[in-house]
Amino acid sequence: MLKEVKYSHKINVFKDLILELIHNNNSILHDSVKENIKRIYYSTIIAVFVHTSVILYFLFIVPSDTFIQTNWKKGIILTHTCLLVLMVVIFLITYNLRNQQYLTFFTFILQYLFIVFIILAGVIITTIDQLITTSITPFILATVTTGTIFLIRPLISFFIYLGSFAFYCKIISVTCTSGDLLLSNRVNGLLAVALGFALSLFMWQNFSLKIMQQRKIENQQNQLKQLAYHDFLTNLPNRRFFDEIIKKEMASIKLYGYESYIIVIDIDDFKNINDTYGHTVGDKVLKQLATLLQNNLRASDTIARLGGEEFIILLSRVSLEEAKIVADRFREIIMKNEFIVNEFTINITASLGLSILPGIESIDNYYQSADKALYRAKNDGKNKVRINLF
Ligand code: GH3
Ligand code: MG
Ligand code: MG
Repeated sequence: MLKEVKYSHKINVFKDLILELIHNNNSILHDSVKENIKRIYYSTIIAVFVHTSVILYFLFIVPSDTFIQTNWKKGIILTHTCLLVLMVVIFLITYNLRNQQYLTFFTFILQYLFIVFIILAGVIITTIDQLITTSITPFILATVTTGTIFLIRPLISFFIYLGSFAFYCKIISVTCTSGDLLLSNRVNGLLAVALGFALSLFMWQNFSLKIMQQRKIENQQNQLKQLAYHDFLTNLPNRRFFDEIIKKEMASIKLYGYESYIIVIDIDDFKNINDTYGHTVGDKVLKQLATLLQNNLRASDTIARLGGEEFIILLSRVSLEEAKIVADRFREIIMKNEFIVNEFTINITASLGLSILPGIESIDNYYQSADKALYRAKNDGKNKVRINLF
């Protein structure tokens, strides 16, 4: 029984690995390309210094006593000069691309081309090196650095390293002609690509995990914000949110000198609705009213539930005349709407108080004036709009 469990666990791990290899995780892909472009940009800066140093070293310090030494020197200087030019070009391209928000096909291809170039450079330098040494260090360095620095999608990584190995096996035989040495170098080359591939898998997995965790945290933060700034029943912004908007609006009014207005809405005789139909029906009426008000708002205006059956609206950058029209339109919309809850069709009215939003620094009592107007609307028989300008 225990053996069976172990066996199926092994199959699952294997399945996960295969899935990971062919997995096309687009959400991570976008972030990985952006990150790669940044890493390429910084790599090219380092590479320019490295190639320049190697060229200078070979030009002035490495001797060219024998024919083989001269050829090796020439080959190395030529390869590093080509790479230097290429690095400067890629530096200039990525300088602009690194801050780009949107992923293009060009950026997508560029990152993989760069990785392939580095490995190819490793293969070519190793091949030239075989003129005087049996070491394959440049190829190992190329596979290990690409595997560690860049984020490569597992399936693409697999093909990059496999293709590199095939190319390496073929081209190294140009300069490494001894059978035993060639075999040894090919075996070591296989280990180098396997190491590069394994490292790139680890890097990709770590990066995916990091991105997933970041997204989770962002989602949780958004949920918390939603809870902190929204009213549970109607899902409208709450008083806390509205206060923040008002603070910004007041600062903006002070700066630009325009006018904004506040409307306070209170449903008339809402206690009767609760008493007649029950509190649950009352709740549903409030929800429908919230949607109704929100649907009739301009994009630049803000609504919030003040509490109970009271709502508040900020009309930003309007004249008094416009504000009066909007307030009366709201009164009419509420009066004419039929709230259908369960088997009941309910009609309600509301009283509205309108006042200018003062452009003062303290936000305390910013709707006190509108509240006074509302009080008058109630005293004048309800279902009215009253204005208080002070
Ligand atoms: P008025 O015309 O003077 O405003 O009369 P009113 O009955 O609406 O009186 P008031 O505004 O003082 O009372 C508000 C009532 O609204 C009291 C309460 O039963 C009801 N209410 C407040 N919050 C809620 C709520 O979340 N759900 C429901 N169903 N009723 C609520
Ligand atoms: Mg009330
Ligand atoms: Mg009321």
